[in-house]
Amino acid sequence: MALIVQKYGGTSVGNPGRIKNVARRVAACRARGDQVVVVVSAMSGVTDHLIRLAKEIMPLPSEREMDVLLATGEQQTIALTAIALHALNVPAVSLTGAQAGIVTDGVHTKAKIHNLTPKKVHELLNQGHVVIVAGFQGETPEGQITTLGRGGSDLTAIALAAALKADLCQIYTDVDGVYTADPRIVPGARKLDEISYDEMLELASLGAKVMQSRSVEFAKKFGVVFEVRSSLNEHPGTIVKEETKNMEEVVVRGVALDKHQAKLTLVAVPDKPGVAAKIFKALGDAAVNVDMIVQNISHGAGTPQTDISFTVEKADLLKARKVIDGLKTGIGYGEVIVAEQIGKLSIVGVGMKSHSGVAGKLFETLANAGINIDMISTSEIKLSVVIDLARGEEAMKAVHAAFIG
Ligand code: ADP
Ligand code: ASP
Ligand code: MG
Repeated sequence: MALIVQKYGGTSVGNPGRIKNVARRVAACRARGDQVVVVVSAMSGVTDHLIRLAKEIMPLPSEREMDVLLATGEQQTIALTAIALHALNVPAVSLTGAQAGIVTDGVHTKAKIHNLTPKKVHELLNQGHVVIVAGFQGETPEGQITTLGRGGSDLTAIALAAALKADLCQIYTDVDGVYTADPRIVPGARKLDEISYDEMLELASLGAKVMQSRSVEFAKKFGVVFEVRSSLNEHPGTIVKEETKNMEEVVVRGVALDKHQAKLTLVAVPDKPGVAAKIFKALGDAAVNVDMIVQNISHGAGTPQTDISFTVEKADLLKARKVIDGLKTGIGYGEVIVAEQIGKLSIVGVGMKSHSGVAGKLFETLANAGINIDMISTSEIKLSVVIDLARGEEAMKAVHAAFIG
């Protein structure tokens, strides 16, 4: 008898028919004698819809109230999935994140799991139930409802698999696995049989939303091997695991495009010690994640001035803007320019550690397509460029063709 954690994403539970499909798959597993813990997301579109409703009332709603609101999406699906299993005569009980023992810090909308004590889950499994856990949510030790960041049901599943020492962790979604690029944008993208944690983590952080990046980080830390596969067929998926020697033979494992970044430029910032610290400390304190940062050469007489550009998630733009506006008198910069029409294109591969010429080839490919590069950042296994959003998909196809074929 194996203990299996299965996570079904928004599209996989997107309507009653799909929920019945999930129930059939879970029932089949259980009929083979396995214990099953099911993690579900909100039905597709529900979380976005709830966010829109709140923002119609107020552009920057309280994050505590957003968590109370958003957690309802997953709560609908756990009950519906339990009902679908009951309809097949399978005993099943739904649990909210809190009931499943998921305790988080108090950073609303992006909470981190502090500990997970799945006592209730064990009890219910031992009584013969399928346990259905609401993804994406937890609670603080004080009992406040929290959510784990967009795509956070992946994290719920991985964390439960680790805490329960599950034999298998499967992430069911609406594509056959992890591809060399988003198959909806690059028709020639290929499904990967396996990928290392580090590559998956980079791809996920750089816009491949097939997995939430924090969930991959968690999986790496606790050694949870997992499979990404389709809920709509029986095709084998992609195994995500520790890097193996032969993985380095491939230079570029995948290409990602992040369309959800925005760039802020602070013009004429006094170029003296402590200014950058003030700006980025204030953003950090407001839980705004800053990604790329570029500071220009300073100019001007007296106290020289410089321009500082950085990127943040579009979802954090209003919050970042508020922080920056609050620093205007203290720091004394000129103005803020916001660019929302940007795309961040990245190539990722552990093989980049041992191969040279990758940057040159990337820049040449973009130059040949007449696409201008606005910002560049690199790490050992990735290379990212910021380009015009309108050229993003075209650039992604060209870069995929150049590196992967
Ligand atoms: P779920 O609701 O199951 O969590 P998501 O929509 O969050 O599903 O993630 C699946 C989607 O991720 C796919 O439909 C696909 O368009 C997109 N995607 C982006 N990059 C990749 C990639 N490299 N491989 C597979 N899918 C990708
Ligand atoms: N429903 C949440 C979201 O849309 C969490 C998830 O789907 O994983 O972000
Ligand atoms: Mg997802």
